[in-house]
Amino acid sequence: MQHHWRNWLGNHSARPQELAAPDDVAGVVACVERAAARGQAVRVVSGGYCWSPLVPCDGMILSIEKLRRIRHIDRERQQITIETGAPLRDLVLAAAEHGLSVHSPAMFMGLTVGGLIATGSHGTGGSAATVGDAVVAYELVTASGEVIQASDVGSDRWRAVITNLGALGVVTAVTLQCEPLYNVLEVHEQVHYMEAAPRIAQALDRHEFASIFWSPAGGIANFKLGNRTDQPATPTRGRMFPTWQDKTIKFTGRYLPRLVERVPVLTEVMASLVSENIGTGSQVVREPDFSHYQQIYPPVISSEFAVPIERAGEAWAWVVERLMQYWRSGIRPVNMVVHARFGRPSAAWIASSAGRRSCHLEVLCLDGNRHRHLFASELDEKMRGHFGGRPHWGKDIARPWLAAATHGRNMDAFLDIRRDLDPKQRFLNPYLRDEVFGLGRRVVRVAGLARSATAEN
Ligand SMILES: Cc1cc2nc3c(=O)[nH]c(=O)nc-3n(C[C@H](O)[C@H](O)[C@H](O)COP(=O)(O)OP(=O)(O)OC[C@H]3O[C@@H](n4cnc5c(N)ncnc54)[C@H](O)[C@@H]3O)c2cc1C
Repeated sequence: MQHHWRNWLGNHSARPQELAAPDDVAGVVACVERAAARGQAVRVVSGGYCWSPLVPCDGMILSIEKLRRIRHIDRERQQITIETGAPLRDLVLAAAEHGLSVHSPAMFMGLTVGGLIATGSHGTGGSAATVGDAVVAYELVTASGEVIQASDVGSDRWRAVITNLGALGVVTAVTLQCEPLYNVLEVHEQVHYMEAAPRIAQALDRHEFASIFWSPAGGIANFKLGNRTDQPATPTRGRMFPTWQDKTIKFTGRYLPRLVERVPVLTEVMASLVSENIGTGSQVVREPDFSHYQQIYPPVISSEFAVPIERAGEAWAWVVERLMQYWRSGIRPVNMVVHARFGRPSAAWIASSAGRRSCHLEVLCLDGNRHRHLFASELDEKMRGHFGGRPHWGKDIARPWLAAATHGRNMDAFLDIRRDLDPKQRFLNPYLRDEVFGLGRRVVRVAGLARSATAEN
């Protein structure tokens, strides 16, 4: 019997032979063994929010949505052990209740711990790398059905697990290092969009946390900045807990892409709504309210590159200039927002921010934007080729066959670990095997450059 699976946006789907949703780790082991006995591929899914085709496969899609328990909170060590099917919301709320903050949390709390770690996802902040960088112990079910429990921080295997693409096995639980819950003095600054690029370096010098937003429909760039403070926090409405207005937007949001295609002027209305949502003025808020101020998303699709932080201003300026050229000729390939965040180097082999401080530069479009692909390819070429950027694995990647090469020898180190854990390539789908890793076709990887080869080598 064939089943049907699709991701959140509906841009990827599959008809796997089995859709499994085990209740516990023993159930996960049984699934992996069953798939192995049938010779099926296994792809793990948790929230299904991924924009790239990491999940689809025709064998078994193994959902870990039922593995969502918080196993242990160690207040003294500031560590939380949690199952990876848990949404970020459960982690953030439990942490806050125990006086803790999560490292580098992504903005949307519906994303899951497993998916965030697998794709090298991140928030923003001078001391923030990826969610995975906070892993101090993990439980991994491998292709042979073995359950590895390890706390080998810094080892080659740990560096693979903390951005694993679901290609090593099923990470069933992790222990995350947290920090004491803190407050943030948030400041919002609005500048003319042409002035944003030269302001980036100064904003980073003065603030631990920085995000920048600009909608090509509006003339203003919003800087959302923050520093830790001991001052008491002001209670906030909405943010982590959507208001009824947010819920209305969620309901109408599904019609937005079609509406905006027909009535382009709506993009300008949206630009001002986005701007309003980001906030104005300055106030002290609790860290979770600072990090998770937006929980409702219309159907959007995102592409993101991590470029070296020194090149952030230049990369931002290029995106703005290019998009304005498009807009002046009536083409709107990015009709939501351009967004930049910043972080410290990741220790993962293949996180987009591996080994260097990075600016995570993202463009968000409403789904169905027929001009999106024009700019997506151009963005890929420029960010990768010119700025040395690396794509975010969970977001839309225009040229996946060139993504692996952006990691140079780190990708080889990752693939060595992968081969040891999964020699029969159980945890790969065609996208990962052929397009990303080039294991199906022959690929020659030469110092940061990958090319397909038909000749024997
Ligand atoms: C609305 C929205 C907001 C977002 N905001 C941010 C953001 O602020 N920052 C950011 O960096 N990214 C962000 N993303 C991207 C997001 O983090 C990634 O796309 C992520 O993969 C989605 O997570 P998920 O939990 O739904 O995982 P899924 O889509 O279910 O899975 C993604 C990948 O992780 C693997 N995986 C999942 N769980 C496990 C596990 N337990 N063991 C092994 N592999 C596993 C899957 O096999 C797959 O390869 C956002 C995405 C959306 C849709």
